[in-house]
Amino acid sequence: MTKRVRFAPSPTGYLHIGSARTALFNYLYARNQGGKFLLRIEDTDLARSTEESTRSILDGLAWLGFAPDEEIVYQSNNADKHRAIALKLLEEGKAYRDFTPKEDRGDKDVKAAIVERAREQKNMRDNQFRDLSREESDAKAAAGEPFAIRLKVGETGKTAFEDAVYGLQERDYSEIEDLVLLRSDGHPLYNLAVVCDDIEMEITDVIRGQDHLTNTHKQILIYEALEKTPPRFAHLPLILAPGGKKLSKRIHGEIVSMTTYRDAGFLAAAFRNFLALLGWSAGEEREIYSLDELVEKFSLEGIHRSNAIFNFDSNNSRRWTDDKAMWMNAEYIRTMPLEEILPFVKAELKPAKLWRDEYEDEDKEWFEKTVDLIRERFFTLKDFSTQGRAYFSEDFDFDQAAIDKNLKKFPDLQAWLPELAERFAPVEDFTHDRIEEIVKQFAEEKGAKLGQIMNGSRALLTGLAVGPSMLAVFETLGKEKSIRRLKSRVAWNQ
Ligand code: GLU
Repeated sequence: MTKRVRFAPSPTGYLHIGSARTALFNYLYARNQGGKFLLRIEDTDLARSTEESTRSILDGLAWLGFAPDEEIVYQSNNADKHRAIALKLLEEGKAYRDFTPKEDRGDKDVKAAIVERAREQKNMRDNQFRDLSREESDAKAAAGEPFAIRLKVGETGKTAFEDAVYGLQERDYSEIEDLVLLRSDGHPLYNLAVVCDDIEMEITDVIRGQDHLTNTHKQILIYEALEKTPPRFAHLPLILAPGGKKLSKRIHGEIVSMTTYRDAGFLAAAFRNFLALLGWSAGEEREIYSLDELVEKFSLEGIHRSNAIFNFDSNNSRRWTDDKAMWMNAEYIRTMPLEEILPFVKAELKPAKLWRDEYEDEDKEWFEKTVDLIRERFFTLKDFSTQGRAYFSEDFDFDQAAIDKNLKKFPDLQAWLPELAERFAPVEDFTHDRIEEIVKQFAEEKGAKLGQIMNGSRALLTGLAVGPSMLAVFETLGKEKSIRRLKSRVAWNQ
């Protein structure tokens, strides 16, 4: 049977890291199994769902490259079907009308109601309308009394299912309340909607966060009432913040949103790779996987039971996100085939007004060489327009620390570096070996350390204290620019 899985986000915020990982695992599983990856927007919570969130979720998914194999399903479009199914269960005596006045029913906050019942040690089946005769119930409804529809959970027994990740899961009926299927205003509730849609979409495997385990037991009761075989369930470990707290938008802000990574210059390929390893492994040391490799290696068996930690330090701007995510991105930037990274670099340089069309024409070779040289030390695509700015523009900033440490500390450089520029002037073949010869000889003459000359030159030519080999920098910037910058007073006066 063809495997059919779905990613079913609620559009009540942007695409969260945890949801993105759920989407990824569903996607990988579908591809690995030659199945279908579907998308369902669970927009039934009218008060909290927004179109903006839907858009942001779709943007995040598009960025990650997870296009659904069939048309997107919007859950709210199915509300009539959900209602009809609740009424069918009522008809069959598997559900009942609850005429408890709304304010006493507490179906808005199911959790609170359960806690309250537990405190009062009340039986989950103590609803006075549960065993109302059909005639009485019909009569009250006909008289216009508002009612919710609740599932009639058995007096004794338990739900059980074999979770693909967590193994056998059981829950005694006594721990499950008669869940509301339909609110008195006719609004179908979450668990009913999910089950109906999963049945209609012929979902074979439900892969979702572990925080849904409690819902799963309730959903299984609905499957049983509908006499349908439940799909296989695989619950994913949570992704927690350092210290074990839940990763949340409210507390942790933008770092949990997928679009943050897109906007911060992450490559989707790198971020996918990072997400894949949050709670899954192929059972080997390796960490870098292309999407094809992830598809090939992915299995539900490789999903961990222990929660994953997303490591970052909100008090340290250099560790604003997980080190591993950063490292992974740098690794992709450094090693991906040059022709694959070029369009991303172009997209980064363009809005920064650092792009020139010649880079695809007569300066193509120079551009490619330069990108290849500077990407070596970059972490994000943003670095091309910030740290890399001096390669594409004359208008770049000087890092004060680099100036203090590598220029001003050695006042001799003030005369020496323009002098070095003079040495460059007559050179015809301004290439690596020739430049090395000149700089070495120059340093020797002055009795200076080579590093001192190189670091000073780096500060003037790039504004920074670190970067690629200085000989390569001279060569890349070329003779004219090297000379001009070695002579410039701007940094000295800063
Ligand atoms: N809409 C639910 C959520 O965003 C997921 C439901 C499911 O996967 O069954 O958490």
